[in-house]
Amino acid sequence: MTDTRISRARSAELFEEAKQYFPGGVNSPVRAFKSVVGPPIFFKKGNGCRVTDEDGNTFTDFCCSWGPLILGHNNAHIREAVIEAAENGLSFGAPTKRGNALAKLILDNNRFIEKLRFVSSGTEAVMSAIRLARGVTGKNKIIKFEGCYHGHLDALLVKAGSGLVTFGVSTSAGIPEAFAKETIVLPLDDREALERTLQEQSNDIACIIIEPIPANNGLLLQQPGFLKFLKQKCQEYNILLIFDEVISGFRVGFEGAAGYYDIQPDIITYGKIIGGGMPVGAYAASHAIMNHIAPVGNVYQAGTLSANPVAMAAGRAALEQLLEPGFYEKLEAKTHHFVQQMQEYCDYKGYEVTIPHIGSIFWIAFSKEKIIRADQIDPTSMEKFKILHFECLQRGIYFGPSGYEVGFVSSAHSETDLVNAAERICDAMDVVFGGG
Ligand SMILES: *Cc1c(COP(=O)(O)O)cnc(C)c1O
Repeated sequence: MTDTRISRARSAELFEEAKQYFPGGVNSPVRAFKSVVGPPIFFKKGNGCRVTDEDGNTFTDFCCSWGPLILGHNNAHIREAVIEAAENGLSFGAPTKRGNALAKLILDNNRFIEKLRFVSSGTEAVMSAIRLARGVTGKNKIIKFEGCYHGHLDALLVKAGSGLVTFGVSTSAGIPEAFAKETIVLPLDDREALERTLQEQSNDIACIIIEPIPANNGLLLQQPGFLKFLKQKCQEYNILLIFDEVISGFRVGFEGAAGYYDIQPDIITYGKIIGGGMPVGAYAASHAIMNHIAPVGNVYQAGTLSANPVAMAAGRAALEQLLEPGFYEKLEAKTHHFVQQMQEYCDYKGYEVTIPHIGSIFWIAFSKEKIIRADQIDPTSMEKFKILHFECLQRGIYFGPSGYEVGFVSSAHSETDLVNAAERICDAMDVVFGGG
């Protein structure tokens, strides 16, 4: 066999340099390739479904910047809108028509929200939504679920305490214990645990936050009944339900998971796709709830670069394309076919692989079990992902560098691109399972 290893020499050099500037050489931890083989890849450009690195290797990209790029890289309409906006000034710190235009486009096409506030990241959106929920209810505690990620804010970098302790324990240094104690962490899909917690503490609980499609710790597809149960319990106990749709928003449909499951949460957070590749987040709710935000109400939240005109232009140019009839149906069908091809191959070979998927999100699980809670993921299966990741890189396929992360298909991935990619991923699977 010939050595098919691609060269990462230039990326390795740049990474060594980056280590002088940034902790661990990166500006976000997962980028450091800690759980896969080799140095992080430094990218030079992206076009359509393909990315090219500094060594000149080209990959079919299934990371898509962790979700924002539902239209692929270098989308012509977004690029032109960004250039046009940039030619008129990058920022004013004041209202612009472009902010109105993006808000109108979103609100006119989403039955679940009436008013929104733009921010600059998903973390900021969630942080603001939590404050809003506390401001509206006058209560402090929040409930989150193990296996959901909501950004790096103090209140949510919390995991379940051990044993009978119901309050959370922070997962990062630098978070006061007193803060972590305000967060209750429950397992997904466990109605009893939720019911018990509400019976004991509902007077202190401001909100329940969930990724309605948990996609940051594998893809933990919930029973719609569980989401409906949350909605029902929130009404019963006067608690606000927050859907964190930073991934699922505009991904499984223009109305996100709220529309997909037809469930009305009280507050929804957005990020990723909403900015078309630029830093934008938003939180949204009914007029009544949003009117608690300053300057109308007494919940303070602000941002120097919020609703930045260039970012607004990018978001609008992206979302306009998602509203084209059949956009989501086509993308979902393509993704299903792509996944099916790989699943059939793995089944035929007897490989322990399941590829759950929804819309254009998929996750490669090295298990035959249906996984719905975080504790069902076998950490040792990540060794298999590590091999898969490396072998895929050799074959021109780029996945995000962690087995807990999902993959995304964009509208720029053609049927042919996907058939070719599936074949190469199956080849890589042969190496993972030693059957090649
Ligand atoms: C990515 C993500 C966030 C955080 O967004 P950032 O823009 O990275 O701050 C929050 N919630 C969910 C569900 C996400 O996927």
